[in-house]
Amino acid sequence: MEYKNELKLQFLSLSENEGFARSCVASFCLPLNPSIETITDVKTAVSEAVTNCVVHAYPNKVGIIEINVKLTANQIYISVKDFGVGIEDVLKAKEPFFTSKPESERSGMGFTVMESFMDSVTVNSKPNGGTEVVLVKTLEDVSVAVGG
Ligand code: ATP
Ligand code: MG
Repeated sequence: MEYKNELKLQFLSLSENEGFARSCVASFCLPLNPSIETITDVKTAVSEAVTNCVVHAYPNKVGIIEINVKLTANQIYISVKDFGVGIEDVLKAKEPFFTSKPESERSGMGFTVMESFMDSVTVNSKPNGGTEVVLVKTLEDVSVAVGG
């Protein structure tokens, strides 16, 4: 039977949860026997997406961040979602070096990093409608060790 697994995580938009979310998603992907490089790529991309929710989604308040992971034998699908302020111009936000917070030492490279480490990055967002970032990684070498 085709391998399939799913994870749903919900936590508050506090910066101390960034490392937790990154490690949690990475651990969940381990049954796919990913390379160290793949795991590092996933950790980096999840980190950027979660940091964006912490930094941008809920100005001056704490909100909910939701992560959904879906695994198949050869693909890692990760959705990182918030219910915050949303993004007015997604194309512009994705441009390298674009940041709405230049004053707080942001470099505007988060989406560019996600795009370089994952196979696809899709952003669904609208003003005051929250933001969902979908990260997909397809595995080169498929050898799943599925426990009984
Ligand atoms: P860096 O990631 O390099 O620290 P950054 O976060 O500003 O800087 P990106 O991650 O590329 O850069 O994001 C670009 C812009 O998109 C942000 O400056 C912000 O305006 C907007 N943005 C990104 N994620 C969200 C989000 N979850 N909610 C609201 N706005 C967002
Ligand atoms: Mg960022």
